[in-house]
Amino acid sequence: MKGLLIDPVARTAWARPGLTAGEYTRAAAAHGLATPFGDTASVGIGGLTLGGGIGWLVRKHGLTIDALLAVEVVTADGRQVTASPDSHPDLFCPAAMRRRRLRRSRQPGRRTDRSRR
Ligand SMILES: Cc1cc2nc3c(=O)[nH]c(=O)nc-3n(C[C@H](O)[C@H](O)[C@H](O)COP(=O)(O)OP(=O)(O)OC[C@H]3O[C@@H](n4cnc5c(N)ncnc54)[C@H](O)[C@@H]3O)c2cc1C
Repeated sequence: MKGLLIDPVARTAWARPGLTAGEYTRAAAAHGLATPFGDTASVGIGGLTLGGGIGWLVRKHGLTIDALLAVEVVTADGRQVTASPDSHPDLFCPAAMRRRRLRRSRQPGRRTDRSRR
């Protein structure tokens, strides 16, 4: 669950969700790359990404989830599929929807979904 494959040419990574932000960041930094995570190295990248991921680089490079290209998902019937905007977008969509919601809430003068309740 801590596997990490970095493609320095494509500037992408396949990361397993058992990695912490610190483990990922150290490995990516060796290639001069970074993904915007939070302020704590011991936080797991799975929950951090699904929660949006707000950190030091947010103003320049966005949330962690803004950098998410695809996810490997195990469906309720046991199939393992890769979901992205182009493949199984219905499974990728919850993450993308969350990203849109967070982006809206960061715009000046916009109320968050929660503040409307
Ligand atoms: C000390 C500390 C500092 C923090 N700082 C920041 C910060 O700077 N910025 C920020 O944005 N957040 C921050 N957080 C919040 C952090 O992003 C959340 O607590 C996040 O949920 C942690 O993810 P985890 O994978 O470590 O935890 P977990 O408890 O393992 O996961 C949390 C939830 O994420 C989901 N999840 C995790 N992995 C998977 C998976 N592989 N598949 C499906 N669902 C999964 C599950 O719903 C799980 O219940 C901080 C938390 C702590 C404790």
